[in-house]
Amino acid sequence: MKNTNKHAMEFVDLVVNSQHAVALTGAGISTESGIPDYRSPGTGLWANVDMSVVSLEGFLRDPSKYYSYAIELYPIRSAAKPNPAHYLLGLLERRGFLSGVVTQNVDGLHQDAGSENVYELHGSLRQAVCLDCNLLFPMEKVMQRAISGENPPLCEQCKGVLKPNAIFFGEALPQIPWKESVKLCEQADLLIVIGSSLQVSPANLLPDIALRNGASLVICNIQPTPFDADAKLIVDEKVGEFASVATKMFDKEIEDKDS
Ligand code: ZN
Repeated sequence: MKNTNKHAMEFVDLVVNSQHAVALTGAGISTESGIPDYRSPGTGLWANVDMSVVSLEGFLRDPSKYYSYAIELYPIRSAAKPNPAHYLLGLLERRGFLSGVVTQNVDGLHQDAGSENVYELHGSLRQAVCLDCNLLFPMEKVMQRAISGENPPLCEQCKGVLKPNAIFFGEALPQIPWKESVKLCEQADLLIVIGSSLQVSPANLLPDIALRNGASLVICNIQPTPFDADAKLIVDEKVGEFASVATKMFDKEIEDKDS
C-alpha cells in the first residue's frame, strides 16, 4: 500500500475514535495555498525584506514603509485560497470530530475553509486595529485605501494609525487565544499538528500540555520536529495531497457508519 494511503487510514482511525481532537497548525499548512513560509531560510518571505518593517518599533517609526511592503504582497495574500488540508479541518469540525483549531497563521484561511472554532495565537491580518482608539476595521478596505495612495491609512474615527491586528516582532501575544488554546489542549485526547515545525514559542508548549494529559499526537509536517519521538503517527508528506486522500477515506468511513 502506498504510504499516503496507509497514513490516511491511520489518521482517520485516530480521528473517528477520539472524543476531543484538536488541531494545531503552522505556516506549512498554507504554503500549498501560495503563502510562503517566512521562516524558511532563503526561500522565505524575509529573504529580500528588511525585517524591521514588521517589527513594532519599525512600524511605529514609519508605518508607510510597512504599507508599501504590504501593497507589494497584497496580490499574493488576496489570491490565496484554502487547500484540502484547511478544508479537511473544517469538515472534521462540522461533523463533530474536531473541537477547534489553534493556529500560528495570520492568513484567515481556516475561517475561509469553514472552521469556526479558531484560536489565532499570532492575531490576524484580516483586521486592522487603531492604535489610539482600538477600533477594528476590515483589512481589505484599509489595504484598498493604502493602494489608492493613502499611506499610511488612518482611523476613520480618530485619525490614529491603523496597524494590522497580527503580532509584529517585539510585540506580546494576545492573551485570550493563548489561554483558550491551553484549555483546549488540556482537554484533548488527540492533538493533530499540521505544518508546524513546533519550534516557535509558545505554540511548541502545546504538545507537551496535551501529552501530559494523555493525548495522542499526530504530526503532519514535511520536516522533522522535536516531538516526533512522542508521536503516534508521523505524516512527512505534502499536507494538501495527504489531506485529499484522508478526506476521501473519512467520507467513506462516515458513510459506512451512517448506513
Ligand atoms: Zn481610532
